[in-house]
Amino acid sequence: MKFFDSEYFTYNSNELFCEGVSLTAIKEGAGTPAYVYSKKFFADRYTEFEQAFSKVNHKIFYATKANFNLNVMKTFYDLGSGIDVNSGGELYRALKIGADPKRMLLTGVGKTKDEIKLGLEHDVLMIKAESVDEVYFINSIAKEMGKTASAAIRVNPDVDPLTHPYISTGLAENKFGIESARAEEIILECSRLSNVKITGIDIHIGSQITSINPFVESVIKMVELIKRLELKGLKIEHFDMGGGFGITYNDEIPFSPKELADALIPIFMQVDCQILFEPGRFLTGNGGVLLTEVLFTKSNSNKNFVIVDAAMTDLLRPSIYKAYHHVQPVIKNGSKDITADIVGPVCESGDFLAKNREISECKMGDLLAVMSAGAYGMVMASNYNARRRPPEIIVDKNKYYICRARETYEHLLYDEKIIDELH
Ligand SMILES: *Cc1c(COP(=O)(O)O)cnc(C)c1O
Repeated sequence: MKFFDSEYFTYNSNELFCEGVSLTAIKEGAGTPAYVYSKKFFADRYTEFEQAFSKVNHKIFYATKANFNLNVMKTFYDLGSGIDVNSGGELYRALKIGADPKRMLLTGVGKTKDEIKLGLEHDVLMIKAESVDEVYFINSIAKEMGKTASAAIRVNPDVDPLTHPYISTGLAENKFGIESARAEEIILECSRLSNVKITGIDIHIGSQITSINPFVESVIKMVELIKRLELKGLKIEHFDMGGGFGITYNDEIPFSPKELADALIPIFMQVDCQILFEPGRFLTGNGGVLLTEVLFTKSNSNKNFVIVDAAMTDLLRPSIYKAYHHVQPVIKNGSKDITADIVGPVCESGDFLAKNREISECKMGDLLAVMSAGAYGMVMASNYNARRRPPEIIVDKNKYYICRARETYEHLLYDEKIIDELH
């Protein structure tokens, strides 16, 4: 089997460490399953992206839906990032870290009235509208509140991002944004509304995109649109090109921020607007692992199973996208390789972390690390089977911090109660 080794998750005398802390030590302190993140990874990726685009007026808005742990958000915020929030709940989380709403964008294909009001009350930098109806709705809410909303309009550039269909968002058939062909006319119409100021145009063409071309293609289209709008007298202050920058889960070879910058900067130079980016996965994905313990192993005539204590309820991506997450032992013990399905305890055949995977033979009590789990991991965790969601741990050099404890059984009940009249 292959072993992933990086500056952040590395084998030291055959034992896997996150920065300076062994994963075995974390298991002893926090149990399993558990998410473990490297703070240095987050900081390094942010700096890498930031520096790549230093030649243009730009700003990064971390797409917090990828990992909304307060400490992860605050790590990026303190480095200078803004925050892209996708719902009232994410806005609430951003406020909890003390973020300035002027450093927030409010996104979402179906915002409710309450969510739009919340965005307006706090004066977020821009509310990104996804349809004409929504712009009119924002206008009427802003009017009621006696405010002018700063809004961006999301355009669907109709390019194929060549990624998994469930995470492609920029094709005409997807539900996101307004159609590119009518964008100019629609944006000009919306710019005449009394209580909305159109300050931006945004796109987000999909996620886990590993080739530069779809970005180049859509940025060219949008820069042309921005130029046409300016000729008609509408100045666009922000061009938000979204996120979607791919990472290595297995053998993908994504472009680097520098390569992306080299391809895009000459196009950005044609317009005078601030360029916004919303990376999520790129900043977090390979900065986290899901640590899990082997409960049992078994084999039948044609298959090996490794049953672990983490499940689809902790990491959903393999189940819903057939996503590849590399799985490797925390202790390299030199045992022979087998091919196995690595599965969780939930009562669903879809509950697997890896299928037909080559892995060192393991036994009860061994620890495994499910790699690349820093993005779209914990944020998608659920309580199905009345399982408690796992803790989140951040490692900073030689210390680890339990930033969110494992849920208790009481948490599972929250405010649920037996209603006497029903029984
Ligand atoms: C999900 C999302 C992002 C982040 O996508 P990544 O693939 O994690 O970079 C950015 N912008 C919008 C509008 C999104 O919906």
